[in-house]
Amino acid sequence: MNNYKIDDILKKALSGNTLKKDEIVDILSLDNENDLNKLYNAAREIRNRNFMNKIFLYGFVYFSNYCRNNCNFCYSRKSNNIERYRKNTDEIIDISLRLKDSGVNLIDLTMGEDPFYHNSDFKDVFNASFEAKKQTNLPMMISPGVVDHDLIDRFSSSGIEWYALYQETHNRNLFELLRKDQDYDIRMNAKLHAKSSGMLIEEGILVGVGETLEDIADSILEMKKMEADQVRVMTYVSHEGIPLKGDVELNKELEFKTIAVMRLLCQNSLIPASLDIEGIDGLKPRLDAGANVITSIILPSEGLQGVAQSCKDIDDGNRSVETVNKILNEMNLKAATSSEYSSYISSRKALYV
Ligand code: SF4
Repeated sequence: MNNYKIDDILKKALSGNTLKKDEIVDILSLDNENDLNKLYNAAREIRNRNFMNKIFLYGFVYFSNYCRNNCNFCYSRKSNNIERYRKNTDEIIDISLRLKDSGVNLIDLTMGEDPFYHNSDFKDVFNASFEAKKQTNLPMMISPGVVDHDLIDRFSSSGIEWYALYQETHNRNLFELLRKDQDYDIRMNAKLHAKSSGMLIEEGILVGVGETLEDIADSILEMKKMEADQVRVMTYVSHEGIPLKGDVELNKELEFKTIAVMRLLCQNSLIPASLDIEGIDGLKPRLDAGANVITSIILPSEGLQGVAQSCKDIDDGNRSVETVNKILNEMNLKAATSSEYSSYISSRKALYV
């Protein structure tokens, strides 16, 4: 792409105008260092305008890795022969309290689609999330997979702020390959219902799973259209025993570009830099691309897994707030306070009242 064209596209985004699909594809195709620097500078400028130098920190509690599904990209898929665990309510509350003490702004309670909960009306999940919220007094994100609209309404009315559910792609053919035997529309409608019932929603995609640049552009436009409050992209990480193969080294630059383009289009949305892909070493480039949330902060020695990377940097404590803060300091960024995060949530919710 010539310099004139990239400058024009970035100028358009910096002025607050949305980009068209062919412009997004042009940006995702960039490959020379000079152009990429212009892109990341623009993304950071938009982030700083909306959030100053404040970065939100999310504690991650993957409390059950049992799952009834066989997604072709997932380590926890039903057919994979892995060590399974399910934390009880007291353990979930205890871990959440310790995460709060460490300085996170939100607790993200995530599970596979565990048949134990699905067959028991989610009573334990509901109690654990409600009690963890009450005792930590922190905002909560719940990621229970696809659940009934009635249950979403119960989470919403009990004050749980976020519902996270990732389509991973908005290409229906690719969805069928990735999320084997699952229904695209039921999944999409669950999060749209969560939004209409007053919850904030997180939508997300994977790169390195056979998608085209056009697919990524379609996904970004779709996430913008659905007004997802948090939009995430992750590079697919291969695991032993998983059908889908992927190469982080080959695909991570595409993830960084996608973070930047999401920032150009979804300017006031939250965009995670996940520690779940390259561990702490991957934090800086993702923040440099315009991310403003650090996800998958996990306490060591709790026997908890990540999702994309089951154990990377967990037991050596490198996914802790302390380690993250050192990197934020080096980048002249700052962890947000709880009240700054609560203000963001209130202002975001006020948009839809
Ligand atoms: S991605 Fe989620 S639903 Fe799919 S197999 Fe993994 S844990 Fe289960």
